[in-house]
Amino acid sequence: MKTSAKTLAYIKQWNQEHPEKRKEYKKRYRDNNKEKLKAYYEANRERFLEAKNAHYQEQVADDSWRNEKNRKSREWSKKNLEKRSKISRNYKDKYPERVRANSDRWIKNNPERRREIARAADRKHRAHKLNLNENFTAEMERFVRKFWGNRCAICHRKQTLFNKKLSMDHWLSLVPADGSQGHALDMDNAVLMCPNCNSKKSNKAPIEVFDIHTVTMIEDRLEQQQEEWSNL
Ligand SMILES: [Zn+2]
Repeated sequence: MKTSAKTLAYIKQWNQEHPEKRKEYKKRYRDNNKEKLKAYYEANRERFLEAKNAHYQEQVADDSWRNEKNRKSREWSKKNLEKRSKISRNYKDKYPERVRANSDRWIKNNPERRREIARAADRKHRAHKLNLNENFTAEMERFVRKFWGNRCAICHRKQTLFNKKLSMDHWLSLVPADGSQGHALDMDNAVLMCPNCNSKKSNKAPIEVFDIHTVTMIEDRLEQQQEEWSNL
């Protein structure tokens, strides 16, 4: 027997008037029919995924939607660190080959980002060994590179395809030559330097290596860098 239009309208109205109850019934139905729903999903998985993907592509093309979604997701992750890592662990255990494929694809598409992240992790590891709390992220590195205009802070040599990479350096050393307390990489201590200037400075105090004008200039810029970053 076909449900009459009148009955359908009644059901629709009832649903609208009892959203909580409707939610509860739906949940009960799902709980009581787990196997059936799972089989239905498996049988139509491709179709579901396709529809989901089409919908996703549509939304992802919308910047404001994407930014808002990323922001919410970051916020949630920050508040739910443990849950967040449990979810990724479970997913990794369940679909190791998907995780590997995703990660390979990401690395292939983002070689520079990948190097940034590796450098950030390496710095953090070195600082940690010295009992310094360093939280210099790949995002911060990108900010610093831009702040110094992709040029060496000392000699202003620009990064080109041919010269060696400019590196993210500690203005005040992580392990000072005179044995004094080290300085972690932070917005008030991160400069961009070419290999020459960096090896000239090594782990000495800046004032021992550079003239007073250079030192003052760099320290002013570092203050400005810190301020611009915190005003972001
Ligand atoms: Zn230089």
